[in-house]
Formats: sequence, C-alpha cells, structure tokens
Amino acid sequence: MNYQVLLYYKYVPIEDPETFRDEQKALCDEIGLMGRILIAHEGINGTVSGTPEQTEQYMQAMRKDPRFFDIVFKIEESQGHAFRKMKVKVKPEIVHLSLEDDVNPHQVTGKHLKPKDFYEAMQDDDVVILDARNTYEYDLGHFRNAIRPDIETFRELPDWIRKNFSQYKDKKVLTYCTGGIRCEKFSGFLVEEGFKDVSQLEGGIISYGYDEEVKGRLWDGKMYVFDDRISVPVNRTDEAKVVGECYYCGEPEERIVKCGNPECNKHIIMCEDCEHEHLRSCSSECKEHDWNRYVKEHGMNTGV
Ligand SMILES: [Zn+2]
Ligand SMILES: [Zn+2]
Repeated sequence: MNYQVLLYYKYVPIEDPETFRDEQKALCDEIGLMGRILIAHEGINGTVSGTPEQTEQYMQAMRKDPRFFDIVFKIEESQGHAFRKMKVKVKPEIVHLSLEDDVNPHQVTGKHLKPKDFYEAMQDDDVVILDARNTYEYDLGHFRNAIRPDIETFRELPDWIRKNFSQYKDKKVLTYCTGGIRCEKFSGFLVEEGFKDVSQLEGGIISYGYDEEVKGRLWDGKMYVFDDRISVPVNRTDEAKVVGECYYCGEPEERIVKCGNPECNKHIIMCEDCEHEHLRSCSSECKEHDWNRYVKEHGMNTGV
C-alpha cells in the first residue's frame, strides 16, 4: 500500500506550546498518523506518515489555523508508515544550535535561493558550498565540492565554524540542509558572525530533489532522513555517484547503522560483512560493551 510522509516546519510564535501539543496529539491520533512533532514558542517541526487520505486530512486541518495557512508540506512516497509511534513534544527550540544568544530567523537569516538558483550559484567560481548537516549525513551523500563540517550533532556547528571556517567571511557562502529548517537559523548565525554573503537552499535538499528542472543534479550519493527509511535518492539523472564507503573495508556502501553500543549510538556507514565482523560497532570498546545490541539481537555470547 502507498503511504505518504509529510515533512514540514514553520517558525511562527506559539503562545502556549503545551496546549498546542495536546491539540496536535489528539488531531494526529484521531486521523491515525504516525510520526514525530516538535513544538516550541518559536514554531513547529514535524514529520508524519499515513495514507494519502490521512495526510490530506492533516494538511487541511493545519491550513485552517491562521498561524499555518501558508505552511509548506513536502510530500514523499513511502511503503508503509515511516514511524512506529506518534510523538508530540514541547522543546525550548525546534532547532537547537547551542548559541549564547539564540538566532531568531524572523529577524536575521540568509538569502533564500530556489533550487534552480541554487544549482546555478553552485557553478559560479568563487563560491563556498557548506553542508550544514552532520558528518554521517554528509558521508552518505552531498553536493559536489561541498565542505564537510566535522560534527556529530547540529549543536556543534557554531563552534566548528568559529574554529575552521572564518577565512570565508568575504566569500559567497551557499549552505543547505535536509528540509531547510536548520539553515534558517544557521544562516542567521553566519550573518551575525560577520559573513557578508550568505545564501541558503529554500526547502532544503528534499525540494531540490523534487524540482523538475534541476532533477537533483550535482548531488552525489543518497540523502540521510530521520525516519525508518534512513536514506532516499536525490539525483534523478544518470550522473548520480555512490560516495558512501564502508567504515571498515572502504568498499562503496550506502547502508548506515547506529553503533551497537547503546551508550555510543554513533552513525556509521557499514557493509553487512563488516557489521557482522565488528558486531556493528565503531571501536573495540563498543564491540566489547556489555550491552552491545548486535550481540543481543543475534543471541551471541559476549566476551568476544
Ligand atoms: Zn565493509
Ligand atoms: Zn561506538
């Protein structure tokens, strides 16, 4: 059966996040959606899955709310639900950047470029393309020639920029993320740090992949997604290359796993053979960890 995944966010003031959380939970349960929604005073960020009828019902309900009449839903196809539960949570921010002074994307943010303009801008000499995602997302797929920040979570990005990226303040910087939400805040941070010319990909890589004109060109590999599908294609031309490599054997690979040590959970690209050999672990410490999930799942003895 065909299912759809809705990805959406909007920065808009929400007076009473707790009440709104309860309303959202009730709405989603009534419709029968599965997914994850974050709510904060600064807005909403959600990914939900359901049948086309269910997702349509949700979009209609949302657009009746004056705060969300213009919210943009990105719609992806899926074989079944992309989540197993429906969770709605209140958070201090919908995107967490760990800044001393939080950036308000209503007040300061970079220029928005539509996919076609972003595609053209990437081909200019003298631009710097900066991936705003985590290393494991980058390693699975990215725009050709993009810079790879060495970070495991988005919170680490400001610090990484201050240490490694300040030489580009006078350059034209093009930044991008999965759905555009991280860049709204991150591009504002760059502007506040003194970067003179900052642009972001409107609607993120997802919109870029769906754009009929660019067809995902200049994207290599796959795109990591934060639901059960794990990765999806972007480049719909025959120029797409595999860029992921197994962490251990270095063979081309697009499988991504979480380290078997539940206290580590690092994302690693790993082939099936190496997963078995290394018990799905990123290091020998993790391999020998008492709680190793791979060992448990396969009913193997510990103390390897
Ligand atoms: Zn391997
Ligand atoms: Zn590990």
